[in-house]
Amino acid sequence: NKIIIAIDGFSSTGKSTIAKQLAKKLNYIYVDTGAMYRAVAYFALENNLIGEDFFHTEKLIEKLDDINIAFKFNEDLGFAEVYLNGKNIEKAIRTLEVSQYVSPIATISEVRHKLVEQQQLMGKDKGIVMDGRDIGTVVFPDAELKIFMTASAETRAKRRYKELLERGHNLSYDDVLENVTTRDRIDSTREDSPLVKAEDAIEIDNSDLTIDEQLETLLNLANK
Ligand code: C5P
Repeated sequence: NKIIIAIDGFSSTGKSTIAKQLAKKLNYIYVDTGAMYRAVAYFALENNLIGEDFFHTEKLIEKLDDINIAFKFNEDLGFAEVYLNGKNIEKAIRTLEVSQYVSPIATISEVRHKLVEQQQLMGKDKGIVMDGRDIGTVVFPDAELKIFMTASAETRAKRRYKELLERGHNLSYDDVLENVTTRDRIDSTREDSPLVKAEDAIEIDNSDLTIDEQLETLLNLANK
């Protein structure tokens, strides 16, 4: 019987790495909801709706219908990449710039409403692993398995820094740490769907766990 697996947690807790592998093992669909919020931030930047000293919330809300987000499976990568209005933006949304604007964008209720609706549709046939901040609390409150991932801020920033360097981004560790802690603060204090652990979620601190160890734990939970 296929189920819905919700994986939530703070920024850079390694949610997507583990969610991708779990989905592969179970032959489930994997959905990275952070990529959807990043796509909206990317759209807002591209259309000059947000910038260093301006944030046109109303104009962005008016343009929400022009934002079409889709996922397409990439055989070589083994996961689905995100597309905005037909353009592959999987790489473009991982920059520090998009990372800096995404959490303020994710506080806008209209944005959340649009994306949550789309996410619920994607999970209607179950057999899905979805990661984000509000999956177990808002998107799928009835998910059969809910995980809340944690790790220390330094562990998370180090992982993120390494990952970004490997992808060829040029930035400093301090900027990455600052971004991770700022996003945590905005995500957990916003009014609409703040990041909190769902009451029935299982918390996993993965600071000292290998990917294989985490995967084994999750597979055991999923097969229960
Ligand atoms: O998962 P990722 O770090 O790529 O998410 C980027 C940002 O998108 C988060 O910091 C958060 O502000 C927002 N987000 C959200 N709800 C989700 C997924 C992401 O608010 N379900």
